[in-house]
Amino acid sequence: MINLEPTINSITDIEDAHTSGVYPKRPLALVRGEGVYAWDDEGNRYIDATAGQGVALLGHSHPNVAAAVAEQAQTLISCPEIFYNDRRAELYTELTSILPDEFTRFFLCNSGAEANEGALKVARLMTKRAGVVSAMRGFHGRTMGAVSMTWNPKYRKAFAGWTMDVTHVPYNNIEKMEAAITEDTAAVVIEAVQGEGGVNPGTVEYLQRVRDLCTERGALLIIDEIQAGLGRTGKWFAFQHAGIRPDVIALGKGIAGGVPMGAVVWRSELGQMPGGSHGSTFGGNPLASAAAIATLRTLRDENLVERSAEMGAWLVEQLEAMSHDYVREVRGRGLMVGLELRGRVTPVLKSLQDKGVLALPAGNTVLRLLPPLTITQEQLAVVIDAIREALDENNDITDES
Ligand code: PLP
Repeated sequence: MINLEPTINSITDIEDAHTSGVYPKRPLALVRGEGVYAWDDEGNRYIDATAGQGVALLGHSHPNVAAAVAEQAQTLISCPEIFYNDRRAELYTELTSILPDEFTRFFLCNSGAEANEGALKVARLMTKRAGVVSAMRGFHGRTMGAVSMTWNPKYRKAFAGWTMDVTHVPYNNIEKMEAAITEDTAAVVIEAVQGEGGVNPGTVEYLQRVRDLCTERGALLIIDEIQAGLGRTGKWFAFQHAGIRPDVIALGKGIAGGVPMGAVVWRSELGQMPGGSHGSTFGGNPLASAAAIATLRTLRDENLVERSAEMGAWLVEQLEAMSHDYVREVRGRGLMVGLELRGRVTPVLKSLQDKGVLALPAGNTVLRLLPPLTITQEQLAVVIDAIREALDENNDITDES
């Protein structure tokens, strides 16, 4: 008898049969990672300059994180916040040691979007105001509150009319920001270096002025450090490049070495959230807490924040020196680097993948590099060579300007 059922036997077939459909997927199945490298199911090795979308600050499967997770998994995995827990307490101590002094209150959660949702609740609860101002090209996640703060209309159009009202103003434009903050503004939510929006660093003057405006008008400044935080830009927090202090910080991505975790952090003078005003079953669980403690200690003990500054400066210098016809601009801070191209980035990413380098887009024309902070100069040199070759191969790309 002829079997008319389609044969579903490969990783991609199975995923395609069941995926929600929301992700634009690359035809590549990653099955193993070690440090800067990731391997596909056919045994091909790649330098992972995506670091799992900016998550693997220490590289893949760092032994300190793996050991902490394994040990905690055999000790206690579940412990909701209705109980106290030794790992969670240790994590608070660890986090306060890297944060500016006055940041002592935390809400622990499980993702970046959830951290921004929590930050929004903190701002509304503390100011008793509703309004939110965020920036064009800003990205803050895709849950209903977070997607309202996210700028790119493509993420919101399917929900037109149902999202929250948020005023989006051009980034690095202080006049527009000044005009947008009103007596009803609970919070200004911005990234200190925009990631998804094209790797755009906020200027020092802009970030300082936004800080002052929020103080003058009684709005809270929420800095979304989900992608740029924890050493990625060569400082523990990207807002430190401008010498400012926000009121609320949203953290996620690499905080727990790849184990899902997010955190909302705020200044002690704002006080606590009212009981029952927020919550999460998995928030602050011992497994993620153990992974985060190991991650933060490794970042500190191996001087990876300083290293990110040094390696990033070298990378930008090399990319600028390459001065390729198809590169309009090189931007970045630390190991958060973007190459603005004169054409579409997708074919360049494909060529790079064929050469064993995985990189990210940031919009249609920006090639984004978010390698692990452990990457060596030799490994970066391989990435740079591959970029040069990939750009040469795509030299028929049309100008998008
Ligand atoms: N905020 C920023 C700056 C991000 O880069 C991201 C994810 O890319 C998010 C928020 C959303 O994080 P998550 O995907 O964990 O919800």
